[in-house]
Parts: sequence; structure tokens; C-alpha cells
Amino acid sequence: MINLLDFDPAGLAAYFTSIGEKPFRARQVLRWMHRFGVGDFEQMTDVAKSLRARLQETACVQAPEVLRDALSEDGTRKWLLNVGQGNAVETVFIPESNRGTLCVSTQAGCALDCAFCSTGKQGFNRNLAVSEIIGQLWLANQALGAVKGGENDGERVISNVVLMGMGEPLANFENAVAALRLMLDDNAYGLSRRRVTVSTSGIVPAMDRLRDECPVALAVSLHAPNDRLRDQLVPINRKYPLAELMPACQRYLEKAPRDFVTFEYVMLDGVNDRDQDAKELLSLVRDVPCKFNLIPFNPFPAAPFGRSKPERIRRFADILMGAGIVTTTRKTRGDDVDAACGQLAGQVQDKTKRTALAAIPVVEARV
Ligand code: SAH
Ligand code: SF4
Repeated sequence: MINLLDFDPAGLAAYFTSIGEKPFRARQVLRWMHRFGVGDFEQMTDVAKSLRARLQETACVQAPEVLRDALSEDGTRKWLLNVGQGNAVETVFIPESNRGTLCVSTQAGCALDCAFCSTGKQGFNRNLAVSEIIGQLWLANQALGAVKGGENDGERVISNVVLMGMGEPLANFENAVAALRLMLDDNAYGLSRRRVTVSTSGIVPAMDRLRDECPVALAVSLHAPNDRLRDQLVPINRKYPLAELMPACQRYLEKAPRDFVTFEYVMLDGVNDRDQDAKELLSLVRDVPCKFNLIPFNPFPAAPFGRSKPERIRRFADILMGAGIVTTTRKTRGDDVDAACGQLAGQVQDKTKRTALAAIPVVEARV
């Protein structure tokens, strides 16, 4: 069986051509699957009966299985998805007054092992397939009733998507970009490039590729004002240090749909949150039009860090804002269902056995 959720728009057209069907048939099926959320070929009423019968026999529309569906008191909703062989990933929906954001995972685990991230502590398991990435949006629309015949039929409940769940999206480049193309396609989810954000820890060559192949809004996980500290917190910095990362941000902006990069900065008590860190940041980002998003550290069991105090975060933000940089502090959402940033541990098996060595327990989702 061929899973049609694994194709981006061009790939689906090529597949239809290969089975002797016209490209417009691919567009019809694309619309049914993604815009209307229909997975049953029988319901695709404007598709020729013979093609429907053929697809029924040879193809399927298969998103990952939902293991758990947890609703937080603040409205944040988290789904735990089975991606096979004991691996699970998470998707989080964050409703706000003026938008609804879906936070999507791109890998089971992550190889980059940032010091403050529970996903990193699990080690890397595998890249998610296109159907497992776009399947998160597909499933969330189902659950939120934003599909044909659903309670929110015709409404755009999910207005923004951020690739900020488990994993490093640019380390699963091909599949992440295929999913992005579906998010942007008018026959699929039709989101504007400004409303789709990729968050990266700073894989410089892949940032250049993204800029050339599929520019969307960019968030970069900075977390430190100099290489000495960033080498410790974000180990990929040893390969792509700040002297390479900052120019890559500038190059990205030449084609980005927004005229700034968002720098994410996790606030770790006594580690990277001093006044002098903020001042050093100002000179680091001097030539990069940017905004800052400060993320209060979300603890997980055995984490070697604490969360900066609210007054410290305010003071840090004031220093950045005093220099004219728009700075927001992320509200911690979905705490009660472990859906906050860096807590998306799920139940991913650690094939590298790194967690056994570090003895860091996996965060269990509470329903
Ligand atoms: N791998 C990508 C995207 C996923 S992580 C990246 O690193 O950018 C999304 C954001 O959550 C990143 O900025 C990451 O640094 C941050 N994060 C990870 N663990 C966290 C924690 N325990 N508390 C707060 N933020 C965390
Ligand atoms: Fe991977 Fe991002 Fe976590 Fe670092 S912060 S380990 S890159 S998911």
C-alpha cells in the first residue's frame, strides 16, 4: 500500500502520472486529503469512480496512531503518537485569542544533545516520514473538527505551524521540507510562509538550503552570547560556531518572508541570564535584524539546571528592549500535561542508550 500522505504536491502529481493519471486528478485528491481532511477514497465524490476503486486497492491515507490525547487546563492540547517500535512523538496545539498554533515534531528523539533538552537526553531514534510529520497536522485538524462535516468545518482553527516539537527539523531536511510544501500549498493547508516557522539549533548549510528551496519564517535557538558557553549548551555550535551562524542568519533574511529572525533563548538560572550576558548578546546580534523570545527553562527529572527567577527574566528582557530589540517572554503553557518546550519526552526508546548512561528518566505524559 502506498501512503498518499508521504507525497508533497509535486510528488503526488508525479505518482499519478506514473500510474497513467492526469496531474489535475492529483490536485483533486490532494484537496480532499489535506484541505477537507478526508481519508476515505469513496467520499472523494468528484474523483472518477474507476480511479477511486483503483486507489482503494493500492493506496491509503495513513496518519500515525494516537496513543493519548491530553487537554490542559489552559486549553493546550497534546497528542502522543505512535511511530512504531516503541517510539512515540508529540504534537501540541496552543490556542490563543488571535491564532491557533500547532507545534510539530520532526524526529523521534534528537542527536544534537543540547544540555537543557529532554528530547536530546533521549538520544536519536529516527527521522519521521513525511506522513508522520504532515500527519500531525492532518490528525490535529480531525481532532479539532476542522475537516469536512466537522464542528469547525470551513474554519481555520490552526492558523500557524511551528516545527518546534521533538527533533531538529533541518537534520531531517527532505521530509521536513516536503511537509512544509504541503502546509503552504493552496490545495492543501494554504498557510502563508510567514505563519510557518522552522526552529533550528543552527545547522548552517541546511539554513542556506532552506532559504533557497523553501523559505519560511526562521527561529534560531541561540541560548548563549558566546562560543564558550554555547559549545556547552548547544553542542552543534562546535561544528557551526557563532561566527558562521550570524552570517547565515543574515543570508537567510535576504529571502525570508519576515524581515527578522527570532532568536530563542532559554533562561537558565545563573548560567546564561546575567546582565553581562544580555549586553554581550547585543553586540553579537548587532548586524542581524531580530526579535528575542525568552523561554523560561522547563525542568525535567534530573535536569542539571534551574529556571531563572521572573525578576531576572524581566531585567534581561529590559536590557534587550532598551537597545530596541523586540523581546517577548514565552508563557509556559500546558505544564500540567508536560507539553511545555523541552518536555516533549513521550516514550521514545533510546537506541543509543544515552539515557541509560545519564540515568535521566523519561517524562511520562499525564492525562
Ligand atoms: N531542534 C529545534 C527545534 C525543537 S526545540 C531547536 O533546537 O531549535 C524548540 C525550542 O525549545 C528550542 O529553542 C529549544 O532550545 C527549546 N527547549 C528545549 N528544551 C527546553 C527546556 N527544557 N526548556 C525550555 N526550552 C527548551
Ligand atoms: Fe535537539 Fe532542539 Fe532539543 Fe537541541 S533543543 S536536543 S536540537 S530538539
